[in-house]
Amino acid sequence: MLKELKQIVVDAEKAFAEAADERAVEDARVAFLGRKGRLTLATGGMKTLDPSDRPAAGKALNEAKKKLAALLEEAKKRVAESGAKAKSAGIDVTLPGRQRRLGAKHPVTAMIDDCVAIFRRLGFIVAEGPELESVFNNFDALNTPSDHPSRDPRDTFYLADGRLLRTQTSPVQIRVMMSQKPPVRIVAPGRCFRRDTPDATHSMNFHQIEGLYVDRDVSLADLKSVLEAFAREMFGEKAAIRMRPHFFPFTEPSVECDFTCVMCAGKGCSICKNSGWLEIAGAGMVDPAVLEAVGYDPEEWTGFAFGMGIERLAMIKHGVSDIRYFYENDIRFLRQFR
Ligand SMILES: [Zn+2]
Repeated sequence: MLKELKQIVVDAEKAFAEAADERAVEDARVAFLGRKGRLTLATGGMKTLDPSDRPAAGKALNEAKKKLAALLEEAKKRVAESGAKAKSAGIDVTLPGRQRRLGAKHPVTAMIDDCVAIFRRLGFIVAEGPELESVFNNFDALNTPSDHPSRDPRDTFYLADGRLLRTQTSPVQIRVMMSQKPPVRIVAPGRCFRRDTPDATHSMNFHQIEGLYVDRDVSLADLKSVLEAFAREMFGEKAAIRMRPHFFPFTEPSVECDFTCVMCAGKGCSICKNSGWLEIAGAGMVDPAVLEAVGYDPEEWTGFAFGMGIERLAMIKHGVSDIRYFYENDIRFLRQFR
């Protein structure tokens, strides 16, 4: 009897281990634990035993039952798991489809495109220049004094060969004027670099859009009308501009141009420090020294130039409080601009 039980357990282990699907497991269960299964029949054999042998046989029988029950559970679990795997490997046509998200332009790129579209309608064409510039194009030709603080290596990234990462898009003006005769009417959007400590409004790399118009009899009134038209197109019909005297080395006279605050429509709020105005563009009439540097006759030609920060425009337009959001590549931030 004990020997037979041992054999049953060995056979059952083999049968359950080999069962590959639910049906095979059920077959094995019937063969060993069913009404006419081998273990059930062995239980019936107890009656034929000598009474003194019964306790030992009973104990062995119980152990065999427990063992077989465990084997059955294990086999069931194994088959269920592999079944689930097989199902997931297949294609379930009843599942809903996965939606593919559409990409979108980065807010900085979108703002550049918007600006360019507005200036194109005003008759400007796009000009581009390299991000690696010569000191001449970035400073000298733009009438920047040799002791001007912006030239300091603490403010500007210089390369070992003497070139620099351009600190503004203005060198594109120089390149264009040196390569063609007036009239010139260009906008130059692009990336600039300064050694600023990054904070909510400063970034070591940022974008500007630069405008230049050189022709006969170009005046400050022309500059004002162009910037006014831009302000209305960008921020709505009610946007107004004002000009304040300022100083830049490459323009004379120079102005700082403010737009009506878009947050409060000019009433005064924390964004505009209660002035109702936001500083947007630096501009002015091209300094005769700059025209001379590129070989234009300042007696014959006059021109205006202006520059604006792209990130600043985008921050105002979309109410973004920190310039660093544009460069963190957080998909949750970028998704808002679709
Ligand atoms: Zn305001």
